[in-house]
Amino acid sequence: MSHYELRCRECGRTWGNQPRSICDDCFSPLEIAYDYDALRASISREQIAQRPPDMWRYSELLPLPQGFVPRLPVGFTPLFQAPRLAERLSGTTGAAKNLYLKNDAVCLPTLSFKDRVVAVALSQAKAFGFDTVSCSSTGNLANAVAAHAAREGMKAWIFIPSDLEPAKILGTNVFGAKVVRIAGNYDQVNRLCSQIADEHRWGFVNVNLRPYYAEGSKTVGFEIAEQLGWRLPDNVVCPMAGGSLIVKIKKAFDELIKLGLVEGKDVKFFGAQATGCSPISTAVKTGSSEIEPQKPSTIARSLAIGNPADGHYAIKTIKGSGGWSEDVSDPEVIDSIKLLAETEGVFTETAGGVTVGCAGKLYRQDRILPDETTVLCITGNGLKTTDVLAGVYETERPIAPKLAEFEHYLQQTLKVADIPGVAAEAAGVGA
Ligand SMILES: *Cc1c(COP(=O)(O)O)cnc(C)c1O
Ligand SMILES: [Zn+2]
Repeated sequence: MSHYELRCRECGRTWGNQPRSICDDCFSPLEIAYDYDALRASISREQIAQRPPDMWRYSELLPLPQGFVPRLPVGFTPLFQAPRLAERLSGTTGAAKNLYLKNDAVCLPTLSFKDRVVAVALSQAKAFGFDTVSCSSTGNLANAVAAHAAREGMKAWIFIPSDLEPAKILGTNVFGAKVVRIAGNYDQVNRLCSQIADEHRWGFVNVNLRPYYAEGSKTVGFEIAEQLGWRLPDNVVCPMAGGSLIVKIKKAFDELIKLGLVEGKDVKFFGAQATGCSPISTAVKTGSSEIEPQKPSTIARSLAIGNPADGHYAIKTIKGSGGWSEDVSDPEVIDSIKLLAETEGVFTETAGGVTVGCAGKLYRQDRILPDETTVLCITGNGLKTTDVLAGVYETERPIAPKLAEFEHYLQQTLKVADIPGVAAEAAGVGA
């Protein structure tokens, strides 16, 4: 007997453990329920702290098959203060010590938080006897499923909208996965995958394995709490596509409280979307509890889901916590990618630009205050979406490898731009 099983989110009916995501009785989504009483006795901070620095240190709180042995160290990405970004976003020095980045741009093996969800989904795919795994993806999930399947020796069929970023397509092909490009948007790809899942005995990580997959996102929340010294932040700002991650970070915090691993605290959840695909933030802003599907049009492709599967629950999480949701335009996404890179040395993809841009709005609206502990979830790596920066930086004419040439170049450059440090040095000031 395992200590977890599928349970309907609405009617509460339990379904054991099987590849299924919807309750046949009421057609609501299923999620994983745990026997917390059994867990309370068997898990402590000290025990967890002794384990290797990866997401498997929270194994008891994940739906892993009996006897599961991790084959890859996934997760436990850095959490660190972002003082220079904090000053720029809040317009004060007061926020400097209180703003943190959770940096899944360096999550292994494929540089996004999707490695976490796929790691859990594939453990169950194997246990259920699937030899082929599959997904509909806006890019990062494609990379993650392909890489983990290669590692596990499983076949992978990946379905994507045809207009994905080239780096995300190549970063799927390279693992030997079969990539099927669909002439349509993500929501159409996803609908097709539901139909394929009815015909073929494949493990679709975000369709028939979705309840298991989604639990992997909780590890972002567990790590934030542990890395803050077993303490919860005041605010979390989280990018939203299907709306699962934000809901699962909240679930993670609630579980830690329930198990006595952190002190109880009301954490505000803030959702971030691109204006060109903002069904969840639109609902929050207009006070609606249901999603009105949109047709996505944004450079933030990883967030371009017009009809989010967990949209309803994301709205509930945000509103129930006293949080809010914002969205930013494509030019703001690009400015925010640059701002994060220039202030903190972190190169994020478009989704991270969305998060940083929305966080700035939330500070300016006084919904997030400088003296509150705030965590921004940076969920993916900038090297995957370099095409959005095409034309932002001009490629300069090369100069001859001669000192005189460089000195001439330096004088010319200083005339047009005030480059700190360099200017002082050229003027003979300072060390
Ligand atoms: C998938 C994705 C998200 C959003 O995750 P959901 O759980 O679908 O809301 C955020 N950031 C990046 C980089 C992603 O790939
Ligand atoms: Zn039900």
